Amino acid sequence: MTRSITVLGATGSIGASTLDLIRRDRDAWRVIALTANGNVPELARLAREFAVELAVVADEGKLPALREALAGTAIETAGGCAALEEAAARGADITVAAIVGCAGLAPTMAAIERGGIVALANKEALVSAGDVMTAAVAHHGATLLPIDSEHNAIFQCLQGNDPRHVRWITLTASGGPFLDWSWERLCAATPAEAVRHPNWDMGAKISVDSATMFNKGLELIEAHYLFPVGLDHLRIIVHPQSIVHSMVEYRDGSTLAQLGPSDMRVPIASALAWPARMDTPCAPLDLAGIGELTFRKPDEDRFPATRLAREAARAGGAAPAVLNAANEVAVAAFLAGQISFTRIAAQVEDVLTGFAPPPPASLSDVLAVDGEARARARLLMETV
Ligand code: NAD
Ligand code: MG
Repeated sequence: MTRSITVLGATGSIGASTLDLIRRDRDAWRVIALTANGNVPELARLAREFAVELAVVADEGKLPALREALAGTAIETAGGCAALEEAAARGADITVAAIVGCAGLAPTMAAIERGGIVALANKEALVSAGDVMTAAVAHHGATLLPIDSEHNAIFQCLQGNDPRHVRWITLTASGGPFLDWSWERLCAATPAEAVRHPNWDMGAKISVDSATMFNKGLELIEAHYLFPVGLDHLRIIVHPQSIVHSMVEYRDGSTLAQLGPSDMRVPIASALAWPARMDTPCAPLDLAGIGELTFRKPDEDRFPATRLAREAARAGGAAPAVLNAANEVAVAAFLAGQISFTRIAAQVEDVLTGFAPPPPASLSDVLAVDGEARARARLLMETV
């Protein structure tokens, strides 16, 4: 049976991994829509290869170039934010939400409102919208399947078990490229060093998040919304080999873990085929070859991001959206060479301290909080 799929953020790292799996089983899939921010040549190439119905470029100024690149094909083209939402609402059986940042929130919500399966990589969307998104999932009868490797692992470990019996959900963290760096060295860390992750090949933003540990902070909040066992039952452990992707411990002392190679095609395949399974080209797990799996406690003095995220999750309401927006601005500034690496967390904390809006009740409330938090973060940079 052919299934239809739309990939939001098709030209990114998760988009490429998703399309790699589709390419290997081409007859099983019909690709409805693909979107990108501004990479027209790659979007056009993919749109032709997968003979899609609709190709969307978020940057509206690039629509003429997309039209030209796809001239002579039957592929519809569109540009801008509303077109992203239209692509998401096209009615694919499964929509992969793989845009980076809160920019992916409105299209992800549009996919949820259609009530199909949404395979979620775009953690910033869920972190920002939290209760608004989970309420929409319930209201529209959508199915949210996590692609983030930790959450996909937890999702798998919870299958067939009653979440009321969970004692701990433990998120594993690689610790990123700066795991053993001193504070002095962290202060001078460069963007090039931060995006060089030891285990995973990812987009620039999540690579920086991995280096600051904001990635794990965002994932803690993501887990809090996906698996509501209570914040006191969620914890983080550093596991530099990235083989154990997360664990669930039950009240009887049994701990279930999901293991696999550090290749996002494994959790993506799990979501694409769910509740069945599909082949991936990933090499079988060679534990004897790996030899050792090690674990240690996170250091929140050098990496305050997980503390800030836990506090934001505990505060609830708008706080996670403020944390996410402030972090997005700080990461962009760090990548542009405007602020230091250690200033990222400090700036997020400053924005959180000065801005506590009421809980958002709708998508537009969330977007308003996001916009205001970004403005405050930028202002803060000018005054420091
Ligand atoms: P990436 O930077 O490689 O790709 C991002 C995609 O989003 C691209 O297709 C880009 O064109 C699109 N995009 C960027 N800004 C946009 C905007 N303003 N409007 C519309 N589209 C826009 O990022 P990635 O590493 O693939 O990550 C995507 C998401 O998946 C992120 O939320 C990330 O946290 C999450 N994630 C990634 C990985 C990974 O291994 N890469 C693992 C887990 C979760
Ligand atoms: Mg992850």
